[in-house]
Amino acid sequence: ALQTHALSKAFGAVQALREVALTVEAGETLALLGPSGCGKSTALRCVAGLERPDTGRVEIAGRDVTALPPEARGVGLVFQDYALFPHLSVLGNVAYGPQRRGASRAEAGARAREALELVGLGALAERSPDQLSGGQQQRVALARALATRSPLLLLDEPLSNLDEKLRAELRTELRRLFAALGAGVLLVTHDQREALALADQVAVMRAGAVVQQGAAPEVFARPATAWIAAFLGWPN
Ligand code: ATP
Ligand code: MG
Repeated sequence: ALQTHALSKAFGAVQALREVALTVEAGETLALLGPSGCGKSTALRCVAGLERPDTGRVEIAGRDVTALPPEARGVGLVFQDYALFPHLSVLGNVAYGPQRRGASRAEAGARAREALELVGLGALAERSPDQLSGGQQQRVALARALATRSPLLLLDEPLSNLDEKLRAELRTELRRLFAALGAGVLLVTHDQREALALADQVAVMRAGAVVQQGAAPEVFARPATAWIAAFLGWPN
């Protein structure tokens, strides 16, 4: 579903990405882990086309999309700050993506309702985003990504604003959903339970570089360095 080749990106003196190579197979979830500021969001933004890498390439579904604008890349996105369109209803926010990609109004509406049901917000479809709690807004953002039915989903801390009970519920729900969609998923999370529950593969980043990548159980059981072990919460 996704391959990045040696993505590098600097912001002034900060080297945010150092030759990052990530692979997400179709139907698999890759969790991107690492401390704050290590470059996780920048990597996602480069894949989405919201940020231009200085060097390197992005391939989605076997196609080089490095030069393409975000809307031509066929990805569903949940940003860390999940901005919703304030002038559209909840339903309008979720239907926007499918409609932009050519679905009829009726089809986009139907997909939006289905996605809202999945995240438990079917009853709030007609509300305006400013009438929702932070956690509800975040679930709308998730529904918006799901409704695109993209073969690649990019989720940057999609459950970060939710309480533990809801997080646990949505973890289970998402696992089922990802399997049903058959989509590749690149998931940024700082929650290891989330990574363990959802990820097939794990990539650990430090200071812009991927320092370990592999099957999730393998990485958690055998961190490659003492730093990774400590980051994963192993006692030293
Ligand atoms: P967090 O877990 O806190 O979200 P992150 O791993 O997502 O962190 P990034 O947002 O990718 O980290 O940032 C990587 C580095 O690049 C940081 O040092 C950050 O300050 C810097 N950075 C990111 N975006 C910009 C920008 N638009 N302009 C300048 N520096 C930036
Ligand atoms: Mg981030």
